[in-house]
Amino acid sequence: MRPIQDAFPLLQSPKKIFITTHHKPDGDAIGSMLGLAHYLTKKGHDVSPVSPGEIPDFLEWMPGTKGMLNYEAKPEASLAALVNADLIFCVDFNDYSRTKHLEQALAAATQPKILIDHHLFPKPVWDYGTSLPEKSSTCEMVFDFINQCGDNALIDLDIAACLYTGLMTDTGSFKFPITSAAVHIMAADLIGRGLDHTRIHEQVYDSWSESRMRFLGYVLIERMEVFRKYNSALITLSRKDMNLFGIQSGDSEGLVNYPLSIAGIKFATLITERTDEVKMSFRSKGDFDVSSFARNYFDGGGHFNASGGRTKTSLAETIVYFKKILSDIHPK
Ligand code: 5GP
Ligand code: MN
Repeated sequence: MRPIQDAFPLLQSPKKIFITTHHKPDGDAIGSMLGLAHYLTKKGHDVSPVSPGEIPDFLEWMPGTKGMLNYEAKPEASLAALVNADLIFCVDFNDYSRTKHLEQALAAATQPKILIDHHLFPKPVWDYGTSLPEKSSTCEMVFDFINQCGDNALIDLDIAACLYTGLMTDTGSFKFPITSAAVHIMAADLIGRGLDHTRIHEQVYDSWSESRMRFLGYVLIERMEVFRKYNSALITLSRKDMNLFGIQSGDSEGLVNYPLSIAGIKFATLITERTDEVKMSFRSKGDFDVSSFARNYFDGGGHFNASGGRTKTSLAETIVYFKKILSDIHPK
């Protein structure tokens, strides 16, 4: 992969640009995709942002969601945008399989592909790009990219709102260790433009339905197991649990973080039963590497302190398998 600066000449004349991100997109995925889309549009390009799937309700307010395509709703138009593009940007993922539906089309595409991402172990499939796991978020990297292009002055309130969202969500509202001085300097730059950051926080975090709040209470009482001797905790959600409260898939977002607020708990796991797989989410504090844990045992990966994976077995079998591994591998 050549450095992203080598792709700058490609952007000197107006291009048709396709941008995509990972399936089940979060604040950083949509924020970086739409922030980049607004910027490239301002530079005179014809930009098509495409989400591989539906975006969660708490991100619907983001500037640019109306002009974005959702592959699951409009597969033909999404693929046409990819085929017709001169250039492809991929943000917040580093393995085509993370897009789910777009995996094959991306692999087959012959246009130059540019990566902007902060996950570990990028696949060697991009022509240009920047892959920096030490960065807080892909939104921070899009901000850096705009600055490298000499365009800090082009950052308007729409771009600022998009980039602030991913910066905020991927740093756990500026508390994870990855929150560097540069993160705060970027936040200061965006807020200095008049960004209403409280409003962004409210739209993302204070937008729960009543049933989601009651579901949280139920889950913490009924579905959380704490393993004191392993400094670990586990939450398991069956489809039945979710149907009981009529909650949507995005409503389990963030549940995995709760056990880490218990003193002494350094490793939290959420196991969710989905229609086609059992989904695993891992979070840790300190030096317990959940990226390797996910990669070695659950067909996944991610970051050192936040990762995910899956199994193709039943929920019950997955729980048994997980507990067996946990008894060997856990934070001290
Ligand atoms: P989540 O638990 O929110 O699904 O994922 C946490 C982090 O791990 C995210 O940064 C996500 O990108 C990453 N992640 C989740 N699932 C996978 C996976 O299957 N493979 C890889 N490489 N990363 C994953
Ligand atoms: Mn991210």
